[in-house]
Amino acid sequence: MSKPKVAFFDFTSCEGCQLNKLNLENDLLAVLDLVDIVEFREAMDDRADFYDIAFIEGSISTPACIERIHDIRRRSRILVALGSCAVHGGINALKNLHPAEWVKETVYGDNKYLFPSIPVQAVSEVVKVDFEVRGCPMSTPEFLHIFKSLILGRKPEPFDHAVCIECKLNENECVLDKGMFCLGPISRAGCNAICPSNGQYCTGCRGVVSNINKNGAVEMLKKHGFSKKEALNKMKLFNALEFKNQN
Ligand code: SF4
Ligand code: SF4
Ligand code: SF4
Repeated sequence: MSKPKVAFFDFTSCEGCQLNKLNLENDLLAVLDLVDIVEFREAMDDRADFYDIAFIEGSISTPACIERIHDIRRRSRILVALGSCAVHGGINALKNLHPAEWVKETVYGDNKYLFPSIPVQAVSEVVKVDFEVRGCPMSTPEFLHIFKSLILGRKPEPFDHAVCIECKLNENECVLDKGMFCLGPISRAGCNAICPSNGQYCTGCRGVVSNINKNGAVEMLKKHGFSKKEALNKMKLFNALEFKNQN
């Protein structure tokens, strides 16, 4: 029986998710043994017409990205978005909060006409995404779990509960009670609350849970001494597409 054909593509990103993947070393090698890598970024000549699984890192931010992601989608049985940039726009989407012309001039100066640019979109805003690996950088245990499940023909279930639940299960003292900021109540779990478990606050890098009460989240943070402006600025860091209309 032939091995599943797997491809990795990067769009607008810092490539941190790719690097994080390489840190998996032996765990990843065992999985790679079960598949044929037919495309890895633009570094391989061995291209395929069809992919069983296409992993996509990065967001959509140019007209060429739109054309390319449609082409990949047409040739892929399963498409998986990797990391915050791909799943929900991530840090890249901060660009959308500023006037497009100002962004182009700031980044490219006089060469701005050489670099066509459009507002940042998550991959799922342009094509159908079947599965997501969240986090900035993406969670490597989640990546391995989803990768293995897909190879075995299983359907991995997404996380859709708040980081606070994992944090409480870890019996952490809440950092809000220590005067720190935290977005755990609205952020999507799956990272085992790694930040609050290590004395840091959650910045919401995995995106938000479904149907959040945005005003309620701001009010909760105000009760803990943070201004609405500070709360919204921090919420927009990784989730600008979600909170862009909140001022
Ligand atoms: S999700 Fe984070 S680590 Fe991954 S490509 Fe985007 S900015 Fe880089
Ligand atoms: S530290 Fe953050 S994630 Fe943990 S319980 Fe408090 S608000 Fe929730
Ligand atoms: S605790 Fe929050 S910021 Fe840290 S990895 Fe999890 S979702 Fe991201």
